[in-house]
Amino acid sequence: MSFDVQKIREDFPILHRQVNGYPLVYLDNAATSQKPQAVIDCIVDYYSLYNANIHRGVHTLSQEATDAYEKARRKIQQHFHIALPEEVIFTSGTTHGINLVANGFASILKKGDEVLVSALEHHSNIVPWQMLCERTGASLKVIPMNESGELRMDHYDTLLTPKTQLVFVNHVSNALGTINPIEEIIEKAHAMNAAVLIDGAQSCAHIRPDLQKLNVDFYVTSAHKMCGPTGVGMLYGKKEWLEKLPPYQGGGEMIKEVTFEKTTYAELPHKFEAGTPNICGGIAFGAAIDYLNEIGFETIANYEDSLLIYATQRLLEIEGLKIYGTSKNKTAVISFNLEGIHPYDVGTIVDKLGIAVRTGHHCAQPIMDFYNIPGTVRASFSFYNTKEEVDRLTEAVQRAKSMLS
Ligand SMILES: *Cc1c(COP(=O)(O)O)cnc(C)c1O
Repeated sequence: MSFDVQKIREDFPILHRQVNGYPLVYLDNAATSQKPQAVIDCIVDYYSLYNANIHRGVHTLSQEATDAYEKARRKIQQHFHIALPEEVIFTSGTTHGINLVANGFASILKKGDEVLVSALEHHSNIVPWQMLCERTGASLKVIPMNESGELRMDHYDTLLTPKTQLVFVNHVSNALGTINPIEEIIEKAHAMNAAVLIDGAQSCAHIRPDLQKLNVDFYVTSAHKMCGPTGVGMLYGKKEWLEKLPPYQGGGEMIKEVTFEKTTYAELPHKFEAGTPNICGGIAFGAAIDYLNEIGFETIANYEDSLLIYATQRLLEIEGLKIYGTSKNKTAVISFNLEGIHPYDVGTIVDKLGIAVRTGHHCAQPIMDFYNIPGTVRASFSFYNTKEEVDRLTEAVQRAKSMLS
């Protein structure tokens, strides 16, 4: 099937706007993706036609909203090839999912236990574990990275011991784009009886993971990185783990029976879904998954790979430009710096030319410390970006270089 990027761009209203007098070039997809009309329509329909609270009302609107919300849960289940619908927990996003699991493990970990995280983590995947270790007396160990931005798997083998209870790794690094060898990480952790949580926030727009085949214990992601709205995401957990973990928040929806003496908790998934959820967001998450599957993940990956190759080649034409994260196995993310120039200054100039890139540490300060830099300029691509946009980025960076050096 041929991929018509111009036709795809018609689906995204925001791509037609001007920024600072230039047509927008949006290259900050690793921070959040843009939304297609199908997702926007889904949100408008919900609030225009059947907005109601779910799971409680007998009235028609409440039933329609409940049906749509539960249908979205099943879409997510199918998309990620999850065995049971109750293993899909709606969250407010990746950060929420990670904190939910970390909180649950506070009652499992004890002094002397070890938790392994990777050097490539987002802050949201470091801080909750530090907090957990402080609470429980467990210690945090880090799988180091190499110069290309890949995990040192030889070190993983020695760090993994019978003391290891948990391993936390992102599927794809948001700062560098590295795709981590999660199959091997999961298999080796399981051989030591350690549980594994994979942070899929950065991978799910590019890769469709088969969670049963991966045999992972927990997997978290955010809808907004995959064409859905902000403030909604999913936590997958194996049923036996979700039954073992205590609830994260108390409130409505998560209880079966409440008296002042004792409360019994609702069945999964409601045990972890206290309070009124982001109903519209959950439904629109389903619409985003439908949209991406209509294009197809193989088509998306092939097209984005061709953009990555082209953009790498074009940017490297600029003398003094250095790319951080050069793994062969990476998504379409290019983190770079111009010699002697602060990334923030580059970002400011390219914005004046209508191009949105991210500058800074990308919530991954330990990676920046490894390279001994304050941050990078990060261009992150999606299937709706074009080679012409890569050319505009290249010209803008050239211009920034001549203005600043
Ligand atoms: C974006 C991101 C997060 C945080 O996602 P939120 O939606 O802000 O909770 C965590 N990990 C990675 C790798 C990310 O890219």
